[in-house]
Amino acid sequence: MSTLEKQRRVILKISGECFCPLKERGIAMDSVMHLAEQVAEVAKRGVQIAIVMGGGNILRGGQFKAANASIQESTAHYMGMLATVINGLALQDAIELVGQPTRLMTAFAMDVVAEPYIRRRAVRHLEKGRIILLAGGTGSPFVTTDTAAAQRALELGADVLLKATKVDGVYSDDPEKNPQAILYPKLTYKKVRQQNLRIMDQESIAKCGEHNMPIMIFNFRTEGNLKRALLGERVGTFITK
Ligand code: UDP
Repeated sequence: MSTLEKQRRVILKISGECFCPLKERGIAMDSVMHLAEQVAEVAKRGVQIAIVMGGGNILRGGQFKAANASIQESTAHYMGMLATVINGLALQDAIELVGQPTRLMTAFAMDVVAEPYIRRRAVRHLEKGRIILLAGGTGSPFVTTDTAAAQRALELGADVLLKATKVDGVYSDDPEKNPQAILYPKLTYKKVRQQNLRIMDQESIAKCGEHNMPIMIFNFRTEGNLKRALLGERVGTFITK
């Protein structure tokens, strides 16, 4: 069986930091185009791709946590969700510029710029070869887009949840502080939980574990990784039962 036959539908969680160069913030169109080119190339080969965008390059709700903050934390989370829509709009244009059809869908109504997320409609878009961009996270505050990615992976019947991040995968310890830290090529949900490895929201790992949704965490800055991951190759850390 070819890689493509094995992996037909994927959820790609892209952190906000993929939208700009390392240590920068905001949106850099070069970074977005680079993402778009890789994703579109794989979609043209028949892989159904749903992308859940983060918003951390613009704003994360948690940054307004201080007791004396003038913006309430829940308001800030909604601001974070809106940031994911900004990223989604940028990525949508970039992907279409390289010739792949897309649909931007949001978890809350924003019908001037995007469709509402409706599961059956999302599935239909995927079947028609459109890349779907799922913005607005879950639509509820106090969680992150990792939770949204796990949720969408399950309800859209994805074969795998791919999480593109700035690290190579899951380590036994913080590799920046401990040079002896080892990178795990494979892990079980149980081990992630037992060792309290902080790679995704605990809630999203638990959800994936409950329903046997494989997760792969990989470094999107390593050239070729994103394409390989989308095509079903093992890069980074693969988490299963
Ligand atoms: N957010 C939220 N509910 C969601 C998804 C996101 O409240 O379902 C908010 C939350 O404040 C989060 C921000 O949106 O910090 C941006 O998303 P995230 O932190 O997941 O972005 P990433 O770290 O992946 O760039």
